[in-house]
Amino acid sequence: MKDDYWNTILTSSRITSESLSGLHGDSTGYFNVIKKINKDLNAFVFYNENIQTRKVDAVHGDATHAASSTHSIPCAIKSNIAMKGMPLHCASNLLKDFTSPVHASAIAQLLDAGFSIVGLTNMDEFGMGSSTTHSIFGRTANPWDIGRSPGGSSGGSAAAVAAGMVPFALGSDTGGSVRQPAMFCGVWGLKPSYGAVSRYGLVAYSSSLDVIGIIAEQPSWLRKIFSIIKVKGRDPKDTSSFYPQKTPSEQVKKVAVYIPRRNIAEEIRNGMLLAVQQYRNIGYEVTEIDLPIFDYAAAVYLNISTAEASSNLARFDGIRYGTRDATAQSSADLVRRSRNAGFGSEVKLRVLTGAYILQSGFQDQYYTKARALQKHIQKTLLSLFKHYDLLILPVFPTQSFRFDDTQLSDFAQKLGDTFSVVANLAGLPAASFPVAWYNGLPMGAQVVGPLYTEDRICLFLENTAHLFEHRYSPYAKKFFEHSSRDLQDREAMMKDL
Ligand code: GLN
Repeated sequence: MKDDYWNTILTSSRITSESLSGLHGDSTGYFNVIKKINKDLNAFVFYNENIQTRKVDAVHGDATHAASSTHSIPCAIKSNIAMKGMPLHCASNLLKDFTSPVHASAIAQLLDAGFSIVGLTNMDEFGMGSSTTHSIFGRTANPWDIGRSPGGSSGGSAAAVAAGMVPFALGSDTGGSVRQPAMFCGVWGLKPSYGAVSRYGLVAYSSSLDVIGIIAEQPSWLRKIFSIIKVKGRDPKDTSSFYPQKTPSEQVKKVAVYIPRRNIAEEIRNGMLLAVQQYRNIGYEVTEIDLPIFDYAAAVYLNISTAEASSNLARFDGIRYGTRDATAQSSADLVRRSRNAGFGSEVKLRVLTGAYILQSGFQDQYYTKARALQKHIQKTLLSLFKHYDLLILPVFPTQSFRFDDTQLSDFAQKLGDTFSVVANLAGLPAASFPVAWYNGLPMGAQVVGPLYTEDRICLFLENTAHLFEHRYSPYAKKFFEHSSRDLQDREAMMKDL
């Protein structure tokens, strides 16, 4: 039942406020259920109970403001994406009282299409992390096992989707932060091509790699939501944004697969082998390949991302943004104290690393080298895609880890980003998808494509989803149980269309 009703809504050619039947009339019941479930998960850190959407004809883009929505599909956004009048704290103490004065472009597009943003999700502070534990709101739990991490940094968005609280949520992906949490939580995650979604209103971590992405409960929603939030041509508010009118073919015949020989858990390897087998069974030409770029991808990423972070986060000085320290003796002292009290330890570590890398006299040793290797990664993938339509590889070397797992230190997690960061370093689209369940936990893989092949990737995932088992987490089942009346109402409304 669950599959059908949101699917029907999203596959209808016209998404109008009348045909969106997620929330309607009195939404108190809905919020009561998500609040109840959130007690265990801590996926949401803010609720937008005074929902406002715009009535719109999505096909003709003719938006008229409505005081409050009548019927609308709920969704959530990561706490580093701006929505006017809502907090924009990035899970940081430094921005804890900051309210956004603007809508991010992607948010304006979602509202124009009639969706309801019901709240903000938890994250690793400023997007730095792979666990959603580095947050002033405490950690988020994985709906498959609350003793485990939902991944990060968009872990709140992934947990909210995997718990059925929203059918999709936005996250941001600088080096895997949409794909890795989606995989840890057994749902789908799309990181679009660099610039395909406007970065206006996304708080910058590493501007040359950041992109807003989508985490969804069904693969088909990735494509639908992407078509709504992508830039139409260019966004004047983000000069790096661009999406062509004509995109590469959606045909997939030849698939390259990279299965690392070492440094990945056996179950991840087995999952990859299963995927290869399944693809072959239905006629794809699958070739296993070896790619040496993974030996240094994590190091390149850490150099570039920390360098950019140290520059981007310099704006958080306690003067323009952040809490001013009242006891400061001088302006330099004010900045120092505000940052010291405002930033968590992971952010401090990265800002300092970036400042070190950019120090005069050090550029040739680190930053320039990293940029050269980034070029090499781009070229390697470019030539790979002359022979293959898509590349499949792991997302992360392990399944979701326990919060008390000493094997997966923060450093080990950074190395674990190896497989995800290449898509960001090359600016290419990539999506993660669930493949199998081991020990009651999801295991997934990711698919990378040439520039602007979001539709090719998403259609491939839609067309192959039946090859793999699909499961709802125990919390999603709980959510559907509590909101069954609501679901029936929505189903009934759909029939009337
Ligand atoms: N886990 C990666 C990091 O810690 C990726 C973060 C992201 O994509 N925002 O940098």
